[in-house]
Amino acid sequence: MSTIIKDIEVIKTKSTKIHDVDFDDLKFGSVFSDHMLVCDYKDGKWHAPKIMPYQPLTLDPSAKIFHYGQSVFEGMKAYKDDNGAVWLFRPEDNARRLNISAERLAIPELPEGYFMDGLKALLELDKDWIPQKDGSSLYIRPFIFASGNGFHASPADEYKFIICTAPSGSYFSGEVKVLIEETYSRSADGGVGFAKAGGNYAGQFYPTQLAKKKGYQQVIWTDDHEHKYIEEAGAMNVFVRINDTLITGPTSDRILDGITRKSIIQLAESENIPVEVRKLTVTEVVKAAKNGTLKEMFGAGTAAVVSPIAAFGYKGSDYDLPKIENPYADYLKKRITDIQTNKAEDPFGWRFKV
Ligand code: PMP
Repeated sequence: MSTIIKDIEVIKTKSTKIHDVDFDDLKFGSVFSDHMLVCDYKDGKWHAPKIMPYQPLTLDPSAKIFHYGQSVFEGMKAYKDDNGAVWLFRPEDNARRLNISAERLAIPELPEGYFMDGLKALLELDKDWIPQKDGSSLYIRPFIFASGNGFHASPADEYKFIICTAPSGSYFSGEVKVLIEETYSRSADGGVGFAKAGGNYAGQFYPTQLAKKKGYQQVIWTDDHEHKYIEEAGAMNVFVRINDTLITGPTSDRILDGITRKSIIQLAESENIPVEVRKLTVTEVVKAAKNGTLKEMFGAGTAAVVSPIAAFGYKGSDYDLPKIENPYADYLKKRITDIQTNKAEDPFGWRFKV
């Protein structure tokens, strides 16, 4: 039996899996809620989304996703506050960015209403899956891929837009040691680095494996021309604090326009923390590490919000970040998570009630 929510057909699961899940011991993104939203692009248009039980997909081996990697995705979180209300953080920005990524991969534009209404309907149905415990959230993965067939190297004529969700514990990687990359690049001018394209992440795995073998957990990506400028940290934007000033690189073809990054910039500016959005050379960071003016480095992204960096390696030397009192990283993380989880005022209008 199917029902209709906001013009979205809903086929409910016959047996919930929720009782099999230990909500006190959640890993990140490894168990999935009962339902998913699926929307098909066929015959030149996107068809109305449907919600159905979470299930495997059947695809033809010649589906273009397997051969030409036409896929884009998003990452976001839903939170439940102490009163049981459900909140998202700047979700329209994710909907917009998905289409920016899609355009670059020659994937047809998805109507934003399908994203937002579909997501709201899915969250209403699976709201019991949103953990309430501090630090936990329902991780949301919207994605589009080429489901159309054929070995011809050209854009597919069929696509699927899917949203799956995964109750997740707090994403704490510990303080990471990172390696400033001197050989490999994750992106290039004119390339797809600014898009959340699946292949960007596949391309990062091998250099990251090499860094791991050398004892680092993550790679700091530098520009592809000269490996001279600091650009991103793993799959996060990166901030460097020299003296009291927070510095991050400008977004470009090579750097993803992160929602956490722009929220940190706005928040810091509103609290009179000096922020500079400018190109930052590795030389400047190494010099600051040597003369003691380098205070903090951290990654910024949806999963961890802020991920402090304990040390970095460059040209065979390691540089430790100092242990300082009241780091910006802790302060900014708390301010943003308090806004996300409805524990504090939201002067920016970032929070979105489902
Ligand atoms: N850079 C890259 C390459 C990413 O994959 C992500 C995660 N989406 C980010 C930065 C951070 O973006 P956001 O704050 O929107 O999660």
